[in-house]
Amino acid sequence: MKIAVLGSGIIGTTTAYKLVEAGLEVVLIDKTPEPANGCSFANGGQLSFGYWSPFASWHLFSLLPLALIRKDYPVNLKLFPGKNFFRWGMNYTAACFSGYRQESQQSMLKLGEYARKCMHEMVESNPFQFNYKCPVDKYYLYGNQFELESDFSAASNVVPVEKVSVEGVGKAHSFIDLSRLSGGFIRHEEGIGNCHDFTVGLFEKLKSMKSFSYHSGEKVTGFGVKNNRVNFVKTEAGEIEVDSVVVALGIDSYELMKAIGIRLPIFPLKGYSVTLDVNPDYPEIPVTDSDHKIVFTRLGNQLRIAGFLDFDGWDTKIKEERIKYMIDYARLLMPEAADYDNIKQKWCGLRPASADGLPIVSKAKYDNLYVNTGHGMLGWTYSLATAELARDLVLEKYNPDFDINTLSLSRFRF
Ligand SMILES: Cc1cc2nc3c(=O)[nH]c(=O)nc-3n(C[C@H](O)[C@H](O)[C@H](O)COP(=O)(O)OP(=O)(O)OC[C@H]3O[C@@H](n4cnc5c(N)ncnc54)[C@H](O)[C@@H]3O)c2cc1C
Repeated sequence: MKIAVLGSGIIGTTTAYKLVEAGLEVVLIDKTPEPANGCSFANGGQLSFGYWSPFASWHLFSLLPLALIRKDYPVNLKLFPGKNFFRWGMNYTAACFSGYRQESQQSMLKLGEYARKCMHEMVESNPFQFNYKCPVDKYYLYGNQFELESDFSAASNVVPVEKVSVEGVGKAHSFIDLSRLSGGFIRHEEGIGNCHDFTVGLFEKLKSMKSFSYHSGEKVTGFGVKNNRVNFVKTEAGEIEVDSVVVALGIDSYELMKAIGIRLPIFPLKGYSVTLDVNPDYPEIPVTDSDHKIVFTRLGNQLRIAGFLDFDGWDTKIKEERIKYMIDYARLLMPEAADYDNIKQKWCGLRPASADGLPIVSKAKYDNLYVNTGHGMLGWTYSLATAELARDLVLEKYNPDFDINTLSLSRFRF
């Protein structure tokens, strides 16, 4: 049985790996010459296995008026953000209602636990280097006391978190300017790791495996269909015969699926990152600056600062003023963490965000067509878990760790 996996980001590469491991023949296809060149290139590097807060919440709505007006705000909204926004917004609104929110929170936590287990197994059996560390304590820091109390109470209802005083933060992490803080809390047993290096490492391993082949630098343009089955994948270079297809093209999954009449409820949420040479004494403690919605992660000799949530449509260009705000905010919180005048890399990526924040791992339209996308803010974290779920869908196998129906396309109303 030959499976085409479309897209060699973190999601496509992990999916290909799990399918090859299960004994299937896999061809991995990507339009770029190297793996992890899309949204998986320079993300925040945080493995947030215990993240508890569903993306679909009225809180985001409350930020939108400021997001529309203030360019220096961590969330930016264009007046007309682009195709699929309206439908995505309707699904988002539906997902904000409390019953659904509680269910999706439980699903996030289960998926996070499953992903932690998968990453642990992966690291045990694969020695490649990606600056992985787990468990680590992750610090959520606040300047605003009200927001701290409200987030802490929401988190402590569902996951073990520990309040930390300003002095406590100072003892653990000497680079933080404490004068800016009201306090924070710690989520234990989280992880960090370089998503790009992991994807490339796994791809290299795949290349040495017998039943794996790949087409890089080859754009997928469509499918050939017969008797309700996809029988070949069309690329710019020709046709590839297949028995099944998994679409993992990140945000570009939308266009390909639209061409066959499936409008995936995903929307691009743009985020930014900068990478700097880290001060050698900086600790390996992941930090979230909750006021400015940015994360700080030490990855080897580098400091990765990442975040922001821009409804900037399908535009992939870096806006220099967003980089400037990120650097300004970072400098305020941690003035000595790195040489901020010497940025090694500026980057932005379009997060493939489903309307409720959970990934979509589902059969779609044809008997042998599957999608694995929509991971939004947590694609690196959930990648190995959703790869196993996609594998089990293809194999029509029951997965005892997670109810796959939770991630089906049919959960969306519009
Ligand atoms: C600023 C920022 C910070 C983030 N921080 C974190 C974090 O700390 N932790 C976390 O868990 N997640 C984080 N994320 C989210 C995470 O990076 C994404 O969810 C994840 O990378 C999505 O992976 P993907 O494989 O679905 O998409 P991609 O990595 O975009 O991969 C899609 C692939 O499809 C290919 N492709 C597209 N169209 C075609 C076509 N027609 N033919 C062939 N190939 C095609 C592309 O070239 C690309 O290689 C962050 C994201 C951003 C933007």
